Amino acid sequence: MQYLSTRGGNDPIGFSDAVMMGQARDGGLLVPKRIPDAGDHIDSWSVLGYQGLAVEIMRPFVDLSSEELRQIVQRSYAMFAVPEVAPLRHVGPVSILELFHGPTLAFKDLALQFLGNLFSHLLAARGGELNVLTATSGDTGSAAIQGIRGRDHLSVFVMHPRGRISKSQELQMTSVLDSNVHNIAIEGTFDDCQGIMKTIFGDLAFRDRYSLGSANSINWARVLAQIVYYAYSALRVVKETGAPGVRVTVPTGNFGNIFAGYVCARMGLPIRRLILATNENDILSRFFNTGEYRRSEVAKTISPAMDIQVASNFERYLYYHVGGNGERVRDLMLQFAEEHVFRLDPDMIRHERIVAGSGNTEDTLETIRRYHADHGYLLDPHTAVGVHVAEQHLSEEEPMVCLATAHPAKFGQAIRDAVGEDLARHPLLESLEDRETRVDVLPASVDAVRDYISSRLVAA
Ligand SMILES: *Cc1c(COP(=O)(O)O)cnc(C)c1O
Repeated sequence: MQYLSTRGGNDPIGFSDAVMMGQARDGGLLVPKRIPDAGDHIDSWSVLGYQGLAVEIMRPFVDLSSEELRQIVQRSYAMFAVPEVAPLRHVGPVSILELFHGPTLAFKDLALQFLGNLFSHLLAARGGELNVLTATSGDTGSAAIQGIRGRDHLSVFVMHPRGRISKSQELQMTSVLDSNVHNIAIEGTFDDCQGIMKTIFGDLAFRDRYSLGSANSINWARVLAQIVYYAYSALRVVKETGAPGVRVTVPTGNFGNIFAGYVCARMGLPIRRLILATNENDILSRFFNTGEYRRSEVAKTISPAMDIQVASNFERYLYYHVGGNGERVRDLMLQFAEEHVFRLDPDMIRHERIVAGSGNTEDTLETIRRYHADHGYLLDPHTAVGVHVAEQHLSEEEPMVCLATAHPAKFGQAIRDAVGEDLARHPLLESLEDRETRVDVLPASVDAVRDYISSRLVAA
């Protein structure tokens, strides 16, 4: 499989090169040249366990041998707390796909454990080193750190927006003291962190000098690993219920998670509709309802991983939406960078598989409270935004799968606010409370981050 840039300015490259490159050199994102059709495999894939299915899904996208891929996959999911990796729970009108049984208790682990093992494999094969620069809205950072800490020839620099992530999320990052882990608290928002990261990746000389790579969902390998759980849950529900297909609701920030669902549906797996759920930062749900993509100020909410206005993976969706026309994508993205807005024909968007809605803080707290009272199930606030929107899109024929993107204990304050009690706990988080921490505070400035990186690395 060859990979191209969404902006049309990158020569086609193979999978391993795409993984090491992260962001395309023309500023776009790498996408596979074609989406493989899995329609003929549905029956045989229905009987596979998570790891077996992962190998089958990923195989057409990669340039590794099946045995190499199998080993990377096995290593990546071996330390999950439940052997099933991603269990489904039937709760009231929906099926909750629990994606929080990895080492940092959020869905990011499903892709970042894989990415860490993949990076190690590729570096062992090619030599050299990779320094990963990452921006986090809270959960990517700790998952990237757990995927990379202690590995040879790899280091990770994680920028988080200072004071805008939960206490647990912060401790999960800053309590890791390995010498290849660098935590940076940026005095700004997640969009500032992501903007700094993209600017630095756009400085090709700097990027090459310090062998920079990406663990954000701009890295195609993350999207690839996420396709697996969409296929896994859809196949399971279809097999259990005999339904023709499912709907999947996805609490969305950077569009990375739901974009994997979009690819999975296009591969021919039985996903009939994707429901995109946003919090008050609803640029994406406004787009899918009106065709207008307009940036506004970031509002701070109780689902902070979704406090994003500029969703990087949206560019991948745009690429497919405009029929793979890289120039058109580039023009739209430049227009957005300058004017903070562009518009597409809403009728064309309605033909897509994605519908969207949003939930505010009150809806989120009400949904957590109600699922706890009625079903004895605790939703984290991100998952609750999704469930709130999912309830407006239920259908008789197509069962609803809701992705549970984090363990509720990561957002203890929201749970206390919703149910009035400190019900969400997890031993992994409690053990962090008195640990030594390390973090450096920097202003939201590209130069400050560039200087910080060069002071800690030896140039190639
Ligand atoms: C990252 C994250 C999201 C948003 O996922 P995207 O891929 O950015 O859309 C939602 N919920 C939680 C808990 C997250 O950590």
